[in-house]
Amino acid sequence: MTMSKAFQPPFRLLLGPGPSNVEDRVLRAMSAQVIGYFDPLMTEIAGEIGRLLRMAFGTANRATFPISGTGTSGMEAALINLVDPGDKLIIGHNGFFGDRMVQIVERCGGVPVPLAADWGRPILAEQVEAACKREGKVKGIAVVHAETSTGVLQSLDGLRGIADRHGAYLLVDAVTSLGGHPVEIDRHGVDVCYSGTQKALGAPTGLSPITLSDRTLDLIKSRPRKLQSYYFDLALFEQYWAGNPFYHHTPPTTFYYALLEALRIMAEEGLEARWARHRRNHQALVAGVEAMGLKMHVDPAFRLWTLNTVRIPEGVDDAKVRGRLLEEFGIEIGGGLGTLKGKVWRIGLMGVNSRPNNVLLLLAALERILPSEGFCCGSGIAAANGVYAQG
Ligand SMILES: *Cc1c(COP(=O)(O)O)cnc(C)c1O
Repeated sequence: MTMSKAFQPPFRLLLGPGPSNVEDRVLRAMSAQVIGYFDPLMTEIAGEIGRLLRMAFGTANRATFPISGTGTSGMEAALINLVDPGDKLIIGHNGFFGDRMVQIVERCGGVPVPLAADWGRPILAEQVEAACKREGKVKGIAVVHAETSTGVLQSLDGLRGIADRHGAYLLVDAVTSLGGHPVEIDRHGVDVCYSGTQKALGAPTGLSPITLSDRTLDLIKSRPRKLQSYYFDLALFEQYWAGNPFYHHTPPTTFYYALLEALRIMAEEGLEARWARHRRNHQALVAGVEAMGLKMHVDPAFRLWTLNTVRIPEGVDDAKVRGRLLEEFGIEIGGGLGTLKGKVWRIGLMGVNSRPNNVLLLLAALERILPSEGFCCGSGIAAANGVYAQG
């Protein structure tokens, strides 16, 4: 008789665009026995997840809950619930995920108005205002707060005012910012915002936290025709989470345990401390790669702390360097997407992975690999340590 051994994947340090590693506490929470969705404990878990998500999003929105699905499910749910055929949406089109929003709006029969900027620069508020004036009858404005494909942080300043002047709702993708950067939904007057669990929130992939303003929820609930999608009908999701459990779909309780534990870790650390930690490790990484002679892709004024895009030096083989990082050091970093394919490396420092150990290890690995791949580099580790020495 042959006995099969338990499956055990190798350890990988995930310093790419997500997923990122999760704390052991989160993994242990996931290994607890499953419970049924009418269990009174579920109501408690749901309440606590809602409370902690509101804290993370910086909102008092009642309708704040995780959708069962990855980040894209939040994007899809937000858009299909709001976009009817013929609806015009201004969409920041400066990266891969802005482009995905454009595609979903097209599938809804909506009319996307893509606002272009280089892949590496944010969309300007003036650009949004001008587009609203030019287009007229704009239903919504949508931007990606943290463009994981480019490493750009999109400022939300001024967008609420523009949306109000044109009677539009404001939709924000915060998949790679929530838990790493201030998101502050209420301060920015965002109507709909979704995220994902596997980036800076520190849980595995599988849920998409979303938050909807009361106004947006009313808009969705008062649709003249029922939404074509049953699963992603946010009115049904909201009913479930508002404390009226009914059978809509089997909630993935194992993932709720993970999200709850990840959010509790966040609350223990404190949001401000968590943002400061992401910022500090980002600064140390930047100091390190620049001291090595590498160039950051994004201007310092709008760099993400969670996702760093580093230009691949001339003559260096992208795939070979990433392959060696994985084989020799067990480190995964990301390559470029779309127009940045082969041009940048994407280095994620998200959630538990945003820590000095990882910054110093990655710099050491690059210092080891790059010279033998034709790039002669200076010492990044000393520069990163210089940042840490400042306290
Ligand atoms: C990762 C990501 C998504 C999609 O999330 P998935 O979990 O991969 O479906 C959407 N938007 C942004 C900005 C992302 O980084």
